Amino acid sequence: MKKDDKCSFCGRSRRDVNLLVSGVNAFICDMCAEQANLIVREELKKKGEFTLNKGKLQKPAEMKKFLDQYVIGQDEAKKYLAVAVYNHYKRLMQSSKNSDDDVEIEKSNILLVGATGTGKTLLARTIARMLHVPFAIVDATVLTEAGYVGEDVETILTRLLQVADYNVEAAEKGIVFIDELDKIARKGDNPSITRDVSGEGVQQGLLKLLEGSIVNVPPQGGRKHPEQKMIAVDTKNILFICGGAFEGIEKKIAQRLNTQIVGYGASKNRDRIDKDNLLQYIAPQDLRVFGLIPEIIGRLPILTYLNPLDREALRNILTEPKNAISKQYVRLFEYDGIKLEINDEVLDYIVDKAIEFKLGARGLRSICEAIMIDAMFELPSGKEEQIVITLDYAQRKLEKANVKRLKAA
Ligand code: ADP
Repeated sequence: MKKDDKCSFCGRSRRDVNLLVSGVNAFICDMCAEQANLIVREELKKKGEFTLNKGKLQKPAEMKKFLDQYVIGQDEAKKYLAVAVYNHYKRLMQSSKNSDDDVEIEKSNILLVGATGTGKTLLARTIARMLHVPFAIVDATVLTEAGYVGEDVETILTRLLQVADYNVEAAEKGIVFIDELDKIARKGDNPSITRDVSGEGVQQGLLKLLEGSIVNVPPQGGRKHPEQKMIAVDTKNILFICGGAFEGIEKKIAQRLNTQIVGYGASKNRDRIDKDNLLQYIAPQDLRVFGLIPEIIGRLPILTYLNPLDREALRNILTEPKNAISKQYVRLFEYDGIKLEINDEVLDYIVDKAIEFKLGARGLRSICEAIMIDAMFELPSGKEEQIVITLDYAQRKLEKANVKRLKAA
């Protein structure tokens, strides 16, 4: 080892660097090694992570098991989602083989219908995490017809491109979750009375993306303008998962069920209908009555529903998922060397309050936060090594918190 040894990459000499690693006929300094590591990881990510790995593709039952670790209940939706994603990947394999197979597998875009906060986004996000493909969440409410205030439909793909670091090939195999699809339903039965800029026109625009075509996407989003360079994205292999609460659709389902079951055997059928959860009977024609155009419904062939979350489900959400809220607080305190214990009756109390405030699963988090905020503020600077959250403590803290604010959250 000599003093005048130099890094073979940047030329810095041994005394100018922290560390010089020697190879057979060359040297590399710590900085260049780190740089090289970054480049290698980036390139591998681009190449490997986003490409289909046939060997790693899980079977639907395995996908469901994975979803079970993060999402409570919703078995029906999980099953549909797993099968749809599995078939989607078979389809990708078919098209990547460039085979001239006569049986062309069609795209299986999905529509998840369920009240807000029942886990639609969570399901989509979790499945994307498992597949290692670019995944973007977009909100249909901001979309308007071209020429009106709002965003063009194409910006849905801008999000996906951004997530994929503008790697078009990766984006073209990605998954897009379009939330609040119900907000672009046609308002009223006669669309010609007023301009319906956020309704039918947007649905027409969306249709193009869902069915698979080459779309010019503004790389930075916003409105298209002539000087902007567009990126062409083929949506043929992008899987679209749509979600919506479709508030009020239960009425339409009930009407349909009522007319269907009039007549012979009616009373027998009526007994079997579970009136508390009508969404489970949802059918494409209900979406049509709600205001989706038939072409869109046709492009979302997989229709499934999410159950309302009952007390037991909410209680499980607090403790069961891999990243359950209660586990997160335990971990947060662990960083300060503090052992956190939450009594069971506190968990029941949190669930009661979430139901009372009509906040659903989304409220669990804000209620926990209100109970824990003082402890999280004070304990890190104190000497205590343990804290037990009792019912009395939780009640006092929540009463102190501005409950009105929570309700509005
Ligand atoms: P949606 O998209 O249906 O409005 P989200 O998926 O955004 O609802 O749910 C909001 C939050 O509530 C999630 O981040 C999660 O913490 C919790 N949550 C909702 N449903 C479930 C569920 N079934 N299992 C576990 N957590 C859930």
